[in-house]
Amino acid sequence: MKKAIGIDLGTTNSVVAFKDTSVKILRNKEGDELTRSCVGFKDEIIVGKVAYQLLGRDPINTIRSVKRLMGSTLKDKAVIDLMNSGHYKYGITSYNDGTDDAVAVVLGGKQYRPEQISAKILKKLKDDAEEKLGDEVTHAVITVPAYFTERQKNATLKAAEIAGLKVQKLLAEPTAAAIAYGVDNLKPGDATTVMIYDFGGGTFDLSILTIVDGEYIAAGTGGDRWLGGDDIDRKLQALILNKVAQEYSINDISKLIQKLPEKRRYQFEGQILFQTEAAKIQLSSTNSASVTIDSILEDENGDIIDIDISITRQEFEKIVKPFVERSIELIETLLKEVGYDIGMLDKILLVGGTSCIPLVKQMLSERYGAEKIKISEKPMLAVAEGAAILSHRLDDSYERSPDDSTAIGEISYSASHNYYIEVADDNVMRKERIIEKLTPLPAKTSKTFKTTTNNQKVVKVALFSDPEKGDFGMQALGYYLIKENLPIQSELVFDFQLDTNEILTVNVYPKGKRNQEMQIILGRGNIDHKALDIIDTLINKSTREFRTADGEEEFVNFVTKKITEIEKEGVANISDNKWHEVFYTTTEKYDEIKSTENRTPKAEKAIFRAKRLLMEFGELLDQFDKGAMIELIKQIETTTEDEEKNQLVDLLIEKYEQYGVLNVTLQIESYAERILEIPGTTIGSTSKQADYDRLIRLYNDAKIKFKSGSFDNGKELVNQAFTIIEKYDQWL
Ligand code: ADP
Ligand code: MG
Repeated sequence: MKKAIGIDLGTTNSVVAFKDTSVKILRNKEGDELTRSCVGFKDEIIVGKVAYQLLGRDPINTIRSVKRLMGSTLKDKAVIDLMNSGHYKYGITSYNDGTDDAVAVVLGGKQYRPEQISAKILKKLKDDAEEKLGDEVTHAVITVPAYFTERQKNATLKAAEIAGLKVQKLLAEPTAAAIAYGVDNLKPGDATTVMIYDFGGGTFDLSILTIVDGEYIAAGTGGDRWLGGDDIDRKLQALILNKVAQEYSINDISKLIQKLPEKRRYQFEGQILFQTEAAKIQLSSTNSASVTIDSILEDENGDIIDIDISITRQEFEKIVKPFVERSIELIETLLKEVGYDIGMLDKILLVGGTSCIPLVKQMLSERYGAEKIKISEKPMLAVAEGAAILSHRLDDSYERSPDDSTAIGEISYSASHNYYIEVADDNVMRKERIIEKLTPLPAKTSKTFKTTTNNQKVVKVALFSDPEKGDFGMQALGYYLIKENLPIQSELVFDFQLDTNEILTVNVYPKGKRNQEMQIILGRGNIDHKALDIIDTLINKSTREFRTADGEEEFVNFVTKKITEIEKEGVANISDNKWHEVFYTTTEKYDEIKSTENRTPKAEKAIFRAKRLLMEFGELLDQFDKGAMIELIKQIETTTEDEEKNQLVDLLIEKYEQYGVLNVTLQIESYAERILEIPGTTIGSTSKQADYDRLIRLYNDAKIKFKSGSFDNGKELVNQAFTIIEKYDQWL
């Protein structure tokens, strides 16, 4: 029989558990309960502890905390924070096919998507579990943080798919922990409210759940995404280095480390990192621990320093105390946020590796009373155990569809359902919540919206997630095609369904015509999203920029054809290649229509350029030329005789071309705009946006220089601008 397991796919560590008669942790091939969520490269890709140890040799090719990058773009705060943290040496870039703003990491000189890296971890967990169980592992419950967005969850599903695992359910980590602690063991109608305090390696996650009749209702989440055991390690490491400096009378020990040849420095940094963490873990059960590093560090005279330092529990607790205090502050903040009194919590469940530190339990007990605190012997295993318990419950229902409520047993995770759709009221855009808070899953809701033009063919559906400080993040984007001609203000019915993984699907049909119902294919963060996004941008631009209704119609028809093709292939079957094709052909089509349209008669072009010159630089033109140009434009516009018109146009061109540098200056603006339209965020090493900004600045400054009479300075700025524009030669 094929097996199903529970997986805690953690930021720092991953854990696999399996339940038959009881729950067991499945150790990996190295014999450990925890598998480092780390992927490295040495001739080939390696995963786990061996990869982690590579930090001491090749930190550039050691990828940690990839979970923080899942389903993200380079613009996301979490990614920017990670890059700015200075703790990670591996490369993070935009994916170099240039079609998408998703993040890529670099390993062994090759780019990978976060989900591909995550898949390597899952694959190792699967392989090791199969060896342990002596059987094929086909299914898993995988846990994700309660705050994961739709995109992040989709990326996790994708990782599982790459690793060859069918996901029975994505389970929220706090729910998993609550299951493991058995707090869901209640009489019908009884309710309990718990706080899950998950202190891990890189994050501190808080969450409040009320459990009643097999439902887990989330009241709120909190914590700090940048607080964890790693921070304690860094403080402890500073203490250790301080002690070394004192013992050997070293003035500036970090300078000594920086001076080491690169290979030795990596070795030293790796050693101190590994040993500090080991000492910290030891101090959870002993009264002192030591760190010894021989034959790596040298003093100013080149003499070897052998490090042998011991740390007492007391010294260690002095370091830890502020971290626990901070965690208590965050508990209080969350309670205040959801309007709960501590008395409303039945228990605080301690989860995560850092909760192993005895001072954590001690301080929490002092603050909230010992009877309120619940901690298992190994709190870092709880999440995987909960996942295994659920996996076992779902075990006999492989064949059922994942959003069939009976397949979920009594577990359904009800959260705040922070999904919003953007709708227009009298042309004012606003966001409307799709599914009410605390609705049990799976949930369905129907909404009716009206078409905004006669014979509208395309309806855009944009889904947004939780507004964080007023910013809505777009999670998914798709289109519904209207097959017939409907008058303006016709009603369309939108059916929204949120499955138990909190993944949303949308079906649409014209009111009263259910037979035209279509599931919308939603792009969610990768090339799918980008392809739909470019369609969106270009449709908007086409209505603004195309001069003829024919051009607009041709473009909309083309887009309609592409979306129909996508619909035909079906959500599950569309390959990335198909999305790439959609992306490129749509862009090409747009350019083609635009350039056909732009084959404007010579006269129109000349008038346009002359008018621009008059408008922008009128005061710089010779009075006589200015008058002549205005007169010529008037004559061209009124002349009907072709021959005469042509002569007048040539005269006009001759007039304005005298002002060569001013005309060239005016081109900077339109070049800048075209650069922004090139697919991809970076070209070479600079970002297009930065180049755009620079060009617009140069353009404005040059105009000012010319107008104030500093012609040479103005020309210099124009030259600088064209040096930037030249980089984009092949695209413009
Ligand atoms: P994740 O962030 O992946 O959820 P874990 O829950 O496994 O990670 O927590 C990892 C952190 O817990 C690391 O910082 C690790 O050093 C720390 N840790 C693990 N065991 C102990 C222990 N016995 N005492 C103190 N810290 C520990
Ligand atoms: Mg964890």
